[in-house]
Amino acid sequence: MADCIFCKIAQKEIPSTLVYEDELVAAFKDLEPQAPFHALVIPKKHVESIAALKAEDKELAAHILCDVIPQIAEEQGLTEKGFRVVANTGEEGGQTVKHLHFHILGGRSMQWPPG
Ligand code: C5P
Repeated sequence: MADCIFCKIAQKEIPSTLVYEDELVAAFKDLEPQAPFHALVIPKKHVESIAALKAEDKELAAHILCDVIPQIAEEQGLTEKGFRVVANTGEEGGQTVKHLHFHILGGRSMQWPPG
């Protein structure tokens, strides 16, 4: 999508600090980190949110959850102590960028409820 900032990051039109990349997915450090490790995992194709995922996106979603996130967590040394994965969805869900992204936060103890 032309005016989507995360599409631009995926296409490398805007620089980012990548922590993972393959044909379908990119992951980069959040510009305003909320934890010692804070990255965003995005599909390279534009999908607005979890609510906009379609049946045809099942493999992509499974790839992100089953392969990419566990791999990043392992590489960043987060697996043993734990980490948090968040996908803010829609206005009341706190989503500010309308391109599906999974936050990975780690390196500190998390609190609940998140607010
Ligand atoms: O879940 P939400 O949509 O609020 O998250 C958007 C995230 O994208 C924020 O954590 C923000 O810091 C991050 N961001 C970024 N680089 C940009 C724009 C937003 O890391 N250029």
